[in-house]
Amino acid sequence: MSTFPARAVVDLDAIAGNVGHLASLAPTSEVMAVVKADAYGHGLVASARAAQAGGATWLGVAQLAEALTLRAHGVTGRILTWIFAPGAPLESALAAGLDVSVGAPWALEEVVSAARFSGRTARVHLKVDTGLGRGGMFLDSWSAVLADALRAQADGAVEIVGVWSHLASAEDVTSPVTDAQLAVFVEAVARAEAGGAHLEVRHLANSAATLVNPAMHFDLVRPGLAVFGLSPIPGRTPAELGLTPAMRLEAEIMLVKEAVAGQGVSYGHTYTTDRATLLADIPLGYADGIPRAASGVGPVDVDGRRLTVAGRVCMDQFVLDLGPDSDARAGDVAVLFGPGDDGEPTVGDWAEATGTIPYEIVTRLGARVPRVFVGSAGRPASEQRAQESAW
Ligand SMILES: *Cc1c(COP(=O)(O)O)cnc(C)c1O
Repeated sequence: MSTFPARAVVDLDAIAGNVGHLASLAPTSEVMAVVKADAYGHGLVASARAAQAGGATWLGVAQLAEALTLRAHGVTGRILTWIFAPGAPLESALAAGLDVSVGAPWALEEVVSAARFSGRTARVHLKVDTGLGRGGMFLDSWSAVLADALRAQADGAVEIVGVWSHLASAEDVTSPVTDAQLAVFVEAVARAEAGGAHLEVRHLANSAATLVNPAMHFDLVRPGLAVFGLSPIPGRTPAELGLTPAMRLEAEIMLVKEAVAGQGVSYGHTYTTDRATLLADIPLGYADGIPRAASGVGPVDVDGRRLTVAGRVCMDQFVLDLGPDSDARAGDVAVLFGPGDDGEPTVGDWAEATGTIPYEIVTRLGARVPRVFVGSAGRPASEQRAQESAW
């Protein structure tokens, strides 16, 4: 057992299985597993390898640093990165064989100079803002940058391998915004191809669009959340979408003690015992990513019983009221969330209880919470043997 009395147990086989399922939903597209934000909190490198084992031919990360970390750990294959600011070390990106997004005129200039400087051809994905109103170029500036990119391609500085965009409301299949975005995307692609770009991948779909909107699939789909078995669609469970949640968050109870009726619990005494009872102290807090908004509402299972965070979540711990008859003892395991198969709460339950989305629950999980990997997908055989003998 680790010295830290809590852990996120990450099932690599679930990650691989989810990628396989997503690939089967988009049979004529390649799958880019999006593993930004430490693989949505699941652990970047191990998750990336598991996703590749499940059939992902591409990996996607937001930050350039994340892409470089993948390469530093020997992760091969295509990797696209899309967040960097002027002055970023793009020579390193090219030396690492990364694909880079170009979503602004300055980005094209910097990619071109990095390519000329390093004598490499940069593989670029031109990003069009089809209506999200965030990254990428609106159509009115598209043609000018496209023309510059085509000139740089003729010089051998860049190869325009992709045109891409991101959806604003993919989880709502009836959204007219999505149709409007599709029309802009098709136009942006048409202009690129008419200008002489030989696109390898046109890509638009996130998890939700991969799951429910085949018209968005094109050559490549870019699921993130669904890779980790979570549902991007409010009101639909992972199981309904054929997904298996990969993470289980659990902690050892560090203290069980009797308390009298009328005992205030945790900072501010926002909870008071209404009878003599047993209180349990759980060693996870907001520094570990447990939302403070879970105070009084976060669901936790102990010995198969559903309890609720009693009083405020603190920095490193929170309290449960076990009731007077509990047999729970220090060292027993409290489960905050998991796949739900054994009746434990899910990431979706936590999101609902705290007024947020599953994305935020898993990505905010603190760095000090150990990630413990189970399953074999993507693991080197030597590591699997070592792990087995260690257990
Ligand atoms: C995060 C992200 C994705 C993946 O989104 P999910 O909803 O998690 O599937 C895809 N593309 C871009 C540009 C992203 O930023």
